[in-house]
Amino acid sequence: MVHLTTELIHHGYVPPAGFEAPQQGVFKASTVFFPSVAAMRSREWKDKTAYTYGLHGTPTTYALEERLCTLEGGAQCVLAPSGLAAIANVALSLLKSGDEVLIPDNAYGPNKALAEGELKGWGITHQYYDPMDPLDLEAQISSRTRLVWVEAAGSVTLEFPDLAALVRICKKRGVTVALDNTWGAGLAFKPFDLVPGEVPALAVDISAHALTKYPSGGGDVLMGSVITRDAGLHMRLKLTHMRLGLGVGANDAEAVLRALPSMALRYRAHDEATRQLAQWCQAQPQFLQVLHPALQDSPGHAHWKTLCVNGTGGAAGLFSVVIDPRYTPDQCDAFCDALRLFRIGYSWGGPVSLVVPYDLASMRSSWPSHLAHGTLVRFAVGLEAAADLQADLANALSVALI
Ligand SMILES: *Cc1c(COP(=O)(O)O)cnc(C)c1O
Repeated sequence: MVHLTTELIHHGYVPPAGFEAPQQGVFKASTVFFPSVAAMRSREWKDKTAYTYGLHGTPTTYALEERLCTLEGGAQCVLAPSGLAAIANVALSLLKSGDEVLIPDNAYGPNKALAEGELKGWGITHQYYDPMDPLDLEAQISSRTRLVWVEAAGSVTLEFPDLAALVRICKKRGVTVALDNTWGAGLAFKPFDLVPGEVPALAVDISAHALTKYPSGGGDVLMGSVITRDAGLHMRLKLTHMRLGLGVGANDAEAVLRALPSMALRYRAHDEATRQLAQWCQAQPQFLQVLHPALQDSPGHAHWKTLCVNGTGGAAGLFSVVIDPRYTPDQCDAFCDALRLFRIGYSWGGPVSLVVPYDLASMRSSWPSHLAHGTLVRFAVGLEAAADLQADLANALSVALI
């Protein structure tokens, strides 16, 4: 007679198949059962035709991967536990001792820190190029260059590069090009079809995306994705992904699946409010410069307009200001502290507006000529009413920057 403890584990009931509802089920597993040893030996996880182990995929993660491919126009996807882990997955898959990676000088800071703090120690060198000068990229590509990162717009300073020109150079020189697509999010432009109508399509090789931002939309999930269109390249990424054990939690995957249907609507709402606030900030004498690619005089505005289909593709909800250097760094901090709706905090893409002052001098090889000198403050606009956010900015200016 089987004992109750055993029966409670090996229970005979199987729910009926065919349950359908708007939201995916949350499948959690490390172990996956096989009906026989032969089935265990023959199942293949690499092409998603079967399940073998939680780390190799579940119905929940497979579903999320497929939807993200649709979002970005790719064919294959791996999920990583953060946007930075996605970036690291790309670097560790493609770079070996003796290789070099080229990174734009305005790249997401931790991408540079990965190169400086980890890759360097493994004999992988890096150079920073000026993203606003395609000739600088071309000049820096050498026989050792195995990977070029591109980012549009750049982190914090939001310069918009001529992305198509940068990608063309990489294609011409036969170097793999990876885009950090967190800003565009698959909505502002198409990373695998950068010039509408061009055949064959001009495409990045890899699109890495911090799902932490707009796909999650809640400020409560850390996740990243790496999307490709080439099966061989995907397999290199996937094998590294498996060897490093980069799994994601089922509840987190479900949270992203739940937020994806509203993503385009949220992106547009963030975009509209951000442009309104950026324009208002341009009229404030305390700000020497406002950085947002849709503003006429923001660096790379023309490139943004071309790539994002005359602006209809939109822009993420980020803008930065350079505060007149007649205000001390302490006064600039007091301005951030005086904000009430804009909370002080990293990341973006959620409902709550955020503000962070940055020390640009410590982030760049040199101060870019297109940036005014002063304290840089980056705003991430949430989903609050734009009028309330504007009043918050006006109040903080009147309190701290007088
Ligand atoms: C936030 C961000 C990342 C990293 O995402 P995490 O999930 O926080 O690791 C990478 N690139 C860009 C451009 C980002 O803004």
